[in-house]
Amino acid sequence: MPNRVGALLAAPSQSSGAAQSRQHGQEADNTARTRGRSKQRPYGFFVGYNPLMPATATPKKPAPPKKPRKPEFSPTRLRSFLSCPMMYRLDYVDKVGKFYHRARAGFTFGSTLHQALQTFHEDGGSAVVSAPELVAKMETVWQSQGYESAAHEADHKVEAARILETYHAASEARAEETRPFLIEKMLKWDMGPFVLTGRIDRIDEHLSDGALEIVDYKSGRMGVTEADVKSALAMSVYQLLAKRNNPDRRVYATIHALRGGVTASASYTDEELLELEEDLRGIGITILEKDFEAVRPVPLPDVCPWCDFLPLCTRAWKREGRDYVEELALKIPE
Ligand code: SF4
Repeated sequence: MPNRVGALLAAPSQSSGAAQSRQHGQEADNTARTRGRSKQRPYGFFVGYNPLMPATATPKKPAPPKKPRKPEFSPTRLRSFLSCPMMYRLDYVDKVGKFYHRARAGFTFGSTLHQALQTFHEDGGSAVVSAPELVAKMETVWQSQGYESAAHEADHKVEAARILETYHAASEARAEETRPFLIEKMLKWDMGPFVLTGRIDRIDEHLSDGALEIVDYKSGRMGVTEADVKSALAMSVYQLLAKRNNPDRRVYATIHALRGGVTASASYTDEELLELEEDLRGIGITILEKDFEAVRPVPLPDVCPWCDFLPLCTRAWKREGRDYVEELALKIPE
């Protein structure tokens, strides 16, 4: 007698065959039903079913390759390169700034005031926001990094409140003459091989003649002169950007020295702006063509003592046996 397993394998029982054929029959029925449904419902019931896509939709063409973005140069980047190419290399090529830049009270203080003033103008200025509300806003955006002690921070908070009260009164006085044209906005201008950029604190439009006044807040300054405005690289770049983006308007620039509550303004003629544009293009091209791998730190008495990268550069100078203390006229504590 054949063993049972062998028999089962060799001769499937009738009931098993019937089950198989029922299964095949069901599959055939299901296929037919599915086909039927496909005809009735054009979108079908498939994985990846998308009711927004008709069954006859042709596959999307692949998007054309994106053009590489042009490099962007802001006044901060340009000033960094002009101050010291090694500083530029460390910040923007090697990108090691995050390991060396330290929080500073002055920077934090300025950033807090900028934020409070941005919100003040966005909310409608002195017509809508009272001086106490502006001071209260400052307290909600207050940043604590960089202060030497709690007392140092508390003094700065009192000073910030005083600055904002003065600012509010000045803002009220000119509310009839101007309206905000833009607040905290990045302007750009294509310079050919690169794009010139600048983040502007505020531009006011003068209602009498439509002139655009670029306003830049300086949180640490007591005073400012027309010559300061005229010689500031950032103010020149902002004027160029504002004029190129609004060629039919008169444009001028103002620095608002927040601590002193005073302002000074200056403007460039069209010829001066053309010259400036050519100079900036030249600087940008020099940066683009620079071999930064070959750039080495050179002691700069007017820059290095205030530079966060000084510890890094002094290590290089020590290895070279360079007398950087003498070259920089550094005062080493006894
Ligand atoms: S320490 Fe001096 S040389 Fe070094 S990056 Fe700063 S400014 Fe340049």
